Amino acid sequence: MDEGRRINIPKIGAVKCKFHRLLEGTPKTLQIVLDVNEWYAVYTCEVPVQPLPETGSTVGVDVGTRYFAITSDGEFVHNPRHLGSALKKLRVQQRTVSRRKKGGNRRRKAVGQVAKTHRKIRRSRQDFHHKVAVKLVRENDLIAHEDLRVSNVVKSNLARSISDVGWSAFFDILRGKAESAGRVVVRVPPQYTSQRCHACGHTCRENRNNEVFKCVSCGHEDHADWNAAKNILGRAVPSGVNGSGVSHAVA
Ligand SMILES: [Zn+2]
Repeated sequence: MDEGRRINIPKIGAVKCKFHRLLEGTPKTLQIVLDVNEWYAVYTCEVPVQPLPETGSTVGVDVGTRYFAITSDGEFVHNPRHLGSALKKLRVQQRTVSRRKKGGNRRRKAVGQVAKTHRKIRRSRQDFHHKVAVKLVRENDLIAHEDLRVSNVVKSNLARSISDVGWSAFFDILRGKAESAGRVVVRVPPQYTSQRCHACGHTCRENRNNEVFKCVSCGHEDHADWNAAKNILGRAVPSGVNGSGVSHAVA
């Protein structure tokens, strides 16, 4: 970090800045952002695509509420645990705000604390998203996930719709990283990915019982979300085996 440098902001002039990292590529836009009580200069730069070496691997990713994500390779990505404790802290701080007198100094301070905790949660969530995305992009040439722009209609339970916001943010990060690494991200239609048997293609509600998937037609058993992740990959890369993507799931 560079303490002494200044940046030139049009109409304002030279402003002393702490540089968090060096600029790469050609700066295209500059945004000045106030985040609670700190100002940030955010440069958007154009950088050339730096393709990563091909891996020969493809992956399907299912996002859930119990786990953050499950891949067709059978990797279960847990939700970050520290997020839970930060959320608890937030609830306590919010109660403090509501106890304090409106318009008072002490209430104003408590509101500031809430905003800071919000920022902390947002940042650690972003950091987590970046880490998960980097790993997926590094290890795979193609990443498939459900198109969440339509899935609200299909999987309309409350917990899921709340988390959808987080997933969209994650998929945006994933797409950005994939683009600059020359990888492919495919959005697939989300209909029935959790009800369809990955082994035989039989699709019905009875196949799924919470976390357990057991096909009523062929008897195939699987973790429900894992089965869904394999279906998601199958939709992006049809393999010819009933279009189920079997060969890719084990690649
Ligand atoms: Zn089956």
